[in-house]
Amino acid sequence: MKKTVLAFSRITPSMTETLQRDFNVILPDPKRGDISAQFNEALPEAHGLIGAGRKLGRAQLEGAAKLEVVSSVSVGYDNYDLDYFNERGIALTNTPDVLTESTADLGFSLIMGCARRIAELDAWTKAGHWQATVSPSHFGSDVYGKTLGIVGLGNIGAAIARRGRFGFNMPILYTGNSRKPELEQELGAHYRTLDQLLGEADFVCIVVPLSDATRKLIGARELQLMKPSAFLINIARGPVVDEAALIEALQNGTIRGAGLDVYEKEPLAQSPLFQLPNALTLPHIGSATAETRDAMAQRAMDNLRAALLGERPRDLVNPQVWK
Ligand code: NAP
Repeated sequence: MKKTVLAFSRITPSMTETLQRDFNVILPDPKRGDISAQFNEALPEAHGLIGAGRKLGRAQLEGAAKLEVVSSVSVGYDNYDLDYFNERGIALTNTPDVLTESTADLGFSLIMGCARRIAELDAWTKAGHWQATVSPSHFGSDVYGKTLGIVGLGNIGAAIARRGRFGFNMPILYTGNSRKPELEQELGAHYRTLDQLLGEADFVCIVVPLSDATRKLIGARELQLMKPSAFLINIARGPVVDEAALIEALQNGTIRGAGLDVYEKEPLAQSPLFQLPNALTLPHIGSATAETRDAMAQRAMDNLRAALLGERPRDLVNPQVWK
């Protein structure tokens, strides 16, 4: 008998078709009413879940008696209560690697966009303000040759650093849990403590996973350590940065600007950030290219399929549950 897969966020028709070859697939549909109610109703029959962007832990999964695996269409897994998954023996898989380059592209776009005030000056031009040559009040900052500080030199951090080092001749500083001798060699990167990095870098790029250790890693004290000419780029997770402290730092000129893809609460429908020309605000689009989203979907389906057919999935976040 086919096992049952329940989607907990929108999945494409082609994903559904592929999964239907091996499984019964249940897709909550907004046209049929409340999505959460449909999800809860289907949960007791589900052997596998697939999706992204939904918190899943004890409160949400207690009724999921048959659940074997959750396949997340994301690399970050802060939405899932891993202790609970381990207690229940539920496997969790994610989609690393396939989104590294597109997320790094986005990170670098934020660096460029902030430095050269791209969105702000685009809006200014379209508003018809360009009636004479721009004045120094519209000038931006150089990127080429400036110092790039990476907080979390993992897959995406290293991909951003490569862009900076080899495309823009930027000296690379990094901080993290451990030293990375191979990347130090490849990128000429130098390890710093977080405080040292904040004081030296012209662009501070946050690329750590959200965890108890990284929640509010950057707060008022850390922002004070940055140069007034420096920019903070956050493409990791919103809660890694204290958003109220960041807003204050942007308002007071403690730092020059920020490029943000992620926020404490998403979607970000209202925020003082919207009034700040030195904040570039994107709607969590790090991996949102057609090619990368397809690759992520494929990887998530491969992981789900393997786990439900009894093969060890490639991207097991909690290998200890795999027997
Ligand atoms: P990764 O390869 O696992 O790299 C994470 C890096 O963070 C590692 O170098 C790790 O250091 C470091 N790190 C972990 N905990 C730390 C701590 N407490 N203090 C300092 N450094 C720490 O992951 P990735 O693929 O680069 O992705 C990183 C994060 O980016 C994801 O977890 C996700 O939240 C976020 N992301 C966002 C988007 C978006 O759409 N904006 C897209 C993709 C990913 P060690 O290697 O020494 O442990």
